Amino acid sequence: MPFVSGKEMLHHARENGYGIGAFSAHNAETIQAILEAAEEEKAPIMIQVGQKVIGSVGLEPMKVMIDTFAKNTTVPVCIHLDHSRQYTQSMEAIQLGFQSVMFDGSGYSFEENAEITKKVVDAARALGIGSEGEIGKIGGTEDDITVDEKDALITTVEEAIRFTEATDVDYLAVSIGTAHGIYKEVPNLRFDRLKEIAEAVDRPIVLHGGSDVPDEQVQRAISLGVAKINVDTELRQAFTRGVQEVFNENPDQFVLADSLGNGKRRMKAKVQEKIRVFGSQGRAEELLLNKKVVTL
Ligand SMILES: [Zn+2]
Repeated sequence: MPFVSGKEMLHHARENGYGIGAFSAHNAETIQAILEAAEEEKAPIMIQVGQKVIGSVGLEPMKVMIDTFAKNTTVPVCIHLDHSRQYTQSMEAIQLGFQSVMFDGSGYSFEENAEITKKVVDAARALGIGSEGEIGKIGGTEDDITVDEKDALITTVEEAIRFTEATDVDYLAVSIGTAHGIYKEVPNLRFDRLKEIAEAVDRPIVLHGGSDVPDEQVQRAISLGVAKINVDTELRQAFTRGVQEVFNENPDQFVLADSLGNGKRRMKAKVQEKIRVFGSQGRAEELLLNKKVVTL
């Protein structure tokens, strides 16, 4: 099980012009869907553990479960903590051996965000773990916001530089026109701003809200410096529809292995599709040859 630090993984992606899919897992079957898709595509991947699943399954059980399923995986895997809003939770993930952690202080003042992020960065770095910070606010599509408000959320080059200098974070999540969830209208990414920020901070950029962004826009974003693309909503849709299909065909089908298994198949296909859009298929071997591999 070749676990690789998020920093090494994203640097390889950025240097070689492709993107790493950071796919959110929610239970055993979704973990398997992601791992099997990566294995078939020979792609390095990140598996994200987010706040919802931490609330339902727990941080440590998810880590243990991913470790178990990844035991015979041959492609590079990085387990990532998504949108942690508590310092203590970020520390817990570091202690549990995650290969990447995100502290999201976008709800705090600039100073508080920078101060806590810096502490997380220092602790993670001491153990060879990658760190992600967020500057600017990435909204949700459920938030009804006006165009003016949307503009106000876009990360400025100045704050991106200030934040990076204050924290020395390994990779940076910025707000450039995406949102979490499914879009009401087609998003238009701010490529001009992305390009300026990526050049100014000179480290991999993370695109949140990757579900439902047109493929060409994601690919252009990758060419301008995005190295990690978070995908959650589209995967949950695929999984849920797969489960629904079984119930629609036979409402008395109570064999969970069949309904959940169909969800897993649907989600796996979606992960494979995304891997190809991001250009990470077939990249596993060169990354492993190139990089220091952490075997746990
Ligand atoms: Zn996000």
